Amino acid sequence: AVKAVGVHKAFGSLHVLKGIDLTVEPGTVTVILGPSGSGKSTFLRLINQLETLTGGSIEVDGELIGYKHVTKNGQDMLQTLNEKEIAAQRSKLGMVFQRFNLFPHMTAIENVMEAPVHVKGMKKAEARELAVAELNRVGLGERLDYYPAELSGGQQQRVAIARALAMKPEIMLFDEPTSALDPELVGEVLNVMLSLAKEGMTMIVVTHEIGFAREVADQVVFMDGGVVVEHGTSDIIDHPTEPRFKDFLQHVL
Ligand code: ATP
Ligand code: MG
Repeated sequence: AVKAVGVHKAFGSLHVLKGIDLTVEPGTVTVILGPSGSGKSTFLRLINQLETLTGGSIEVDGELIGYKHVTKNGQDMLQTLNEKEIAAQRSKLGMVFQRFNLFPHMTAIENVMEAPVHVKGMKKAEARELAVAELNRVGLGERLDYYPAELSGGQQQRVAIARALAMKPEIMLFDEPTSALDPELVGEVLNVMLSLAKEGMTMIVVTHEIGFAREVADQVVFMDGGVVVEHGTSDIIDHPTEPRFKDFLQHVL
């Protein structure tokens, strides 16, 4: 589970997140909607500790991220985690970005093997087997030895998903995974995400794909101006109550 309580983030004087509360239960899909600049990416980056909080707290699996409790002179105190501890927390999360971020000089299978071998110290033969399985899972078993430049955008994004899955994350974070794709390639990536959701993967997805949200989301969150304006089940898409959410939906539908 992910539990964000009163999350604030400022970049200098720019106050981007102004108290976000959000709980994501294991095995559920949360879709975050919101206009450009509302802080959606920043929120995902905070969960993955690519940014640091200015206020509030985030727990992943009941564990506070970025800090640990220590006892000094009989007093309970919070201490910031070291690099290694942060890396251990991050390894529970897989993240997929708008841009595919594949290593261009590596084939699909090499991209997927990279982290298991170099981060986890897995033996190459074992990593290869794992990578084949993950690429099969995203429907790319026939493209193992293709370089990113030889793959379509949709295929590249599926390699990126396989690469994240190869680290066996407990939670997947998707930041507009289809918005850089040509329209005809969006469906194949959404289908992979749909099957992941059906397998019970815990997912937080920032997207403008309202159809996906309607079909797959257990929880929909509409963010605007650094706060959660409306949240609920996917029913809120067809029955929004907040004017700002209504307005947003009219523009994306
Ligand atoms: P989009 O839909 O366009 O991706 P978003 O909801 O993901 O938007 P964020 O990328 O989280 O929005 O950005 C929220 C605000 O924070 C924006 O005004 C952005 O310019 C600002 N911001 C994000 N990252 C930084 C940073 N590293 N330094 C300064 N400002 C930042
Ligand atoms: Mg963004």
